[in-house]
Parts: sequence; C-alpha cells; structure tokens
Amino acid sequence: MRTGHPENPKRLEALIGAIDEAGMRESLILLEPYAPALASLHAVHDPAYLEAFRTAAARGDRHFAVRDCSISERSYETALLAAGGVMAGIDAVCSDRADNVFCAVRPPGHHAGRASAMGFCFVNNVAAGARYARSAYGVERIYILDWDVHHGNGTQALFEEDPLTFFCSLHEHPSFCYPGTGRRLEKGKGAGAGATLNLPLAPHAGDREMIEAFEREVVPSIEAFRPGLILLSAGFDAHHDDPIAELECTEDAYVHMTRRVLELADRLCEGRVVSVLEGGYRTESLVSSAIAHIRTLQGREVPPCSSARG
Ligand SMILES: [Zn+2]
Repeated sequence: MRTGHPENPKRLEALIGAIDEAGMRESLILLEPYAPALASLHAVHDPAYLEAFRTAAARGDRHFAVRDCSISERSYETALLAAGGVMAGIDAVCSDRADNVFCAVRPPGHHAGRASAMGFCFVNNVAAGARYARSAYGVERIYILDWDVHHGNGTQALFEEDPLTFFCSLHEHPSFCYPGTGRRLEKGKGAGAGATLNLPLAPHAGDREMIEAFEREVVPSIEAFRPGLILLSAGFDAHHDDPIAELECTEDAYVHMTRRVLELADRLCEGRVVSVLEGGYRTESLVSSAIAHIRTLQGREVPPCSSARG
C-alpha cells in the first residue's frame, strides 16, 4: 500500500510498538507466518484471480481490480503471508500449542470474494483459515464472528451455502455504510440457509447497542451451532474515534465480546479461538482496542474505559 492510504504498514508497526512498550512480548508466544501452499488458497480463491493479482503486483501496477485496492510490488507476497499467518494460528490452536491466537495481519481479508478484490482486501484470510482448519485438522463446524464495522461480504459469499460454517456479522447498517450488504434478510442460501446471521446497527450506535445485539443474538447462535472452532474477524473500525464509519464503540465492547467468546469457546470447543485483524484505521484507537482484545484473550483484566469518556 502506498503512503496516504488508510490501510498501510504503519497500522501494524504501531501495534507491535505498543505491544513492546506495554511489556507484553514476554507473555506472548510469537508465531511466524508462512507462505501457504497455493492449493490451500485455491479452496477459497479462483486460481486465475490469484495469478492476475500476482502479475499485477509484479509488473508494478498501482491498483488491482478497483481503485481502493492499492498495491505495491510486495502486495501479493504480503497478502499470502497474511493468510499463512492465520494458518499458523490454526496450527497452534489445533496442536494445543496455544489456547487462542491473535493474528496481527494485513492486508485485511473479509471483503475479498472467490475472484474479487475490494475494500482493501485481496485474499480472504479468515476464510482461508476456516478451509485450512477443516482440511488439515478435520474441524467440522466453524463459527466465524465478524465485528468489523463493515459487513464481511466476501466471507459471507464464500460460505453462504455451507451449513457447517456459520457466518455472523455485526456492522453498521448497509444503507449508510460500505459495502452496502449485510441486511437481516441475508440468512444463507440452499443447504446453508440459516447459517448466516447479519446484525446491522444504526449509525451512531455504541457499546450498549453492540453488546445488546451480541448477547441477544450472537451468544445463542454460537451455543446452538456448537462449533469446534471460533474464528473472529476482528476489525476495530467500529470505534468512535475511527474515521471510516459512524459507530461509536469503545474498547469496552471489544473486551466484553472477547471475554464472552472465550467463555463460550471454553464450554464448546476447548477454548479454540483464532482472532484475525481486519480493519481499524485510526492508529490510536486501533492500537488501544487491539491491545485490550489481546489482553482479554490472555485472560487478563482490562480496566473499563467508556465511563471515563462520559
Ligand atoms: Zn472495516
């Protein structure tokens, strides 16, 4: 990504710097991402699409597919490593090396479809992780919870006919927010009917509305689905300081949802949670939200923040 684009390397540099500054590195097991076998990505993406992306990056194109998908000559390798980072996370939880994992990866993935790049996304990292968990470890039932402020349209499209991969998205209402999908009536198709749950929130909804929707609908759907693994598409752009949408959440909502997901995972799937970074475009709120999320994944207490904001 080129300078000035909201989805740029500084996002991760700032997060890693903050992890060091907070003295958290020693308490974490650092996993190395790897370049995945192309065959494992072909379970998610059309081979010709991936090849077109590789070619565009190699010849120095400035965009791929659409204007907002800026690329550099290293974008293809980086996008593959992001998916491989999620696979490394799946390896860790499925081999009991870790209870849960946070994948600090970019570019994000949840808008990418089988043969489409959009919304800063090229390779659908969480979808690649889900398919890999199934093929490499035989995980049958997978629940994907996407709390990025934007609807995870790519992930939804990839799994909408799959009854064994539940996709749930909490996002700003599509009438007001990119990409314009994710209405309640989108509930899955064919054999996958009922295994998609969209929970759009009105502009300016905050922690209260997010947590209410989570408790009322997400929690019972996870309990009813009985997953063997929970994947999170953890974008932090529903934060009230994020410039790219109009939800007003704080770190408290992320802490609450993380804690509850861990409780459910402990009960249902041996604690197996792999959380994958999606959006979050204001450095300060991305970092503070991700750190609060990681601390909660570690089982640490995170002091509430919203009361201080009034
Ligand atoms: Zn987003």
